[in-house]
Amino acid sequence: MKNIKEITQEELDDLKVVVFDLDGVVIPVGTELKENQDGTELHIKSHQLSAGFINNLEKLKKHLKIGFSSGRNILYLKSLVNEIFDKRIILQAENGNITFLGGKINHPIYPDEYFGQLRDIKEKIKEMMKSDQRIRGFEPKLFILTVHCDEMEEIPNLVKEVAGDKLYCLWTNEGYDIGSVEMSKGEAIKNLAKELGIKPKQIMTTGNNYNDQEMLEVGKGVTVKPKRMAAEYFIEHKKEELGGELLAEFLLDYFKSRD
Ligand SMILES: [Mg+2]
Repeated sequence: MKNIKEITQEELDDLKVVVFDLDGVVIPVGTELKENQDGTELHIKSHQLSAGFINNLEKLKKHLKIGFSSGRNILYLKSLVNEIFDKRIILQAENGNITFLGGKINHPIYPDEYFGQLRDIKEKIKEMMKSDQRIRGFEPKLFILTVHCDEMEEIPNLVKEVAGDKLYCLWTNEGYDIGSVEMSKGEAIKNLAKELGIKPKQIMTTGNNYNDQEMLEVGKGVTVKPKRMAAEYFIEHKKEELGGELLAEFLLDYFKSRD
């Protein structure tokens, strides 16, 4: 892995898009979620982008298209960037399953069997929830299942039992994302490159967690958590700093010095 400071001018000039992961990269980790037993009440508390970062994005938009790729749902992503939302902003939600590009939403087509498996898993977790305080509830999603809970092997085991290797079950620091192994943030980056008529390596990607692995490999990857996730580049930051915010500053400094 190389420090981002070692990236060459050629590589930077070749970039067309920068895609930020959200949690732990441009917003602090830690979304609180609490749902009641029958799913009629749901409380979610999360973070927003900092004013400084929004301001930098506004300037960065003159040089690059800006994407956000997250396990979160599309409504949350849209509300997060509402202030700067226009055709130069790309949203990829639910670990690559939903892409908002050029005013259009794209998503894969799944067979009934897939939704059936997710439903079976959800019903079984709801049963467990009745007597297990470690499970807090489900985040609203269209194509993946996100359960908020402590790290507990019962959940990955259940996914294996129901779907074998067809579904992934990834720890998110606040629960598990469960979805089809056919789709990932990396697949979504490949599709995005195709749509834009560019190479995947012309898309700079960022990440800090297991669901970012494919995206970091496919694009010009910059990890903000090199101890957990490998990538071609890493960016150093202090505990109280966000790696994605520093990357935006780094890119802006480069474009300013170039022009
Ligand atoms: Mg993350």
